Amino acid sequence: MSVDIQTLLDQVDSREGELIDLLCKLISFETPAPPARNTKDAQAFIAGYLQNLGFSIDTWDMYPGDPNVVGVLKGAGDCAYKSVIINGHVDVAEVSPDEAWETGPFTPIVRDGLVIGRGAADMKGGLAGALFALMLLREHNIPLPGDITFESVIGEEVGEAGTLDCCKRGYMADLALVVDTSDLHIQGQGGVITGWITVKSPQSFHDGTRRQMIHAGGGLVGASAIEKMMKVIQGLQDLERHWAVTKSYPGCPLGSTTINPAVIEGGRHAAFIADECRLWITVHYYPNENHEAVTQEIEAHIRNVANADPWLKDNHPTFRWGGKSMIEERGEIFPALELDPSHAGIKLLASKYEMVTGEPAILGVSSTVSDGGWFGHEGIPAAVFGPGKLRHAHSINEQVSIQQLKDYTKIMIDFIAAWSSTPR
Ligand SMILES: [Zn+2]
Repeated sequence: MSVDIQTLLDQVDSREGELIDLLCKLISFETPAPPARNTKDAQAFIAGYLQNLGFSIDTWDMYPGDPNVVGVLKGAGDCAYKSVIINGHVDVAEVSPDEAWETGPFTPIVRDGLVIGRGAADMKGGLAGALFALMLLREHNIPLPGDITFESVIGEEVGEAGTLDCCKRGYMADLALVVDTSDLHIQGQGGVITGWITVKSPQSFHDGTRRQMIHAGGGLVGASAIEKMMKVIQGLQDLERHWAVTKSYPGCPLGSTTINPAVIEGGRHAAFIADECRLWITVHYYPNENHEAVTQEIEAHIRNVANADPWLKDNHPTFRWGGKSMIEERGEIFPALELDPSHAGIKLLASKYEMVTGEPAILGVSSTVSDGGWFGHEGIPAAVFGPGKLRHAHSINEQVSIQQLKDYTKIMIDFIAAWSSTPR
């Protein structure tokens, strides 16, 4: 027998302790990435939780010790009603041994209306709220005619995109909500891609040949890859400045399209002219751009820089973009996500936010990136919507407000019930 939604919302208050316990339980699983490969127990717990609610479970190892978990609750409506993916990552930001936590990062504490522990904001709070919402909906037999897919993914903190793997495995829906840190704002995001630019000489020269290589009449055509990389870096700075004055996107600070020369490696020994130099860059771009086009712009610009140099024109820099893991291959992609405020699901979510909090919903652009972009990239309308503040994510004594966690849980209850009952 079904009860009305208000009863469930009241239960979020009266059963607050259970919600906090669930969050503390999730925090107590030590899942920092790096080092990663440590989410097996947390994922088994979440899979068990979903299974108890009637979800069928699909789980597979993305890496040894790091399985993805997807639970599917088939709606009774035979695909005639709106479906939703609820997505969250179970890995948390790394912890270094010298950090001064009140207790251990994985020994959560509850005080002053806060839960404190690694992942409280990013993003075990979002996972706990969404799981608790589903539990209450199922416990009270609220009709859910549309399909509900819950993705608990790994690797987000190190660019391993468990979410991309879920998309590739065929999980689709009419809307995806990524329950990552957004302070209950409903957000899209800009994108990030990392890349390696390599300048490589076809020959290696001894240090003693430098005089011939750089002075009048020396006669030896060669170059230091490190010195030639200076031109590449200068070119990247010119392009970055050009983007800053020519590109913009509503809701993003001007100049957000940055190219950071983050890491440089090169040369082999003081006795040689550097014959190779590798530059690791991080590129940020706006929500309405994509990494394919942005990286083409960079390559075209650097080709022009190279063509203006007598040695680089014959020894063009090479590029390796993105990657599936910062740990395994030192590369990652977080595609951009454009929020569509006119999408029926986004409008419904905003209205539920307003009903629960009594405040107008805030739609905007996240100042960071999450797995949300993979849904946009795969053509699934999506938003980032979760509890916790970004300034607490990855910080010492990471925390989430219990009031906000409860509001979040209520909004999710109300939204899921309404969306799942909306005809397609
Ligand atoms: Zn996150």
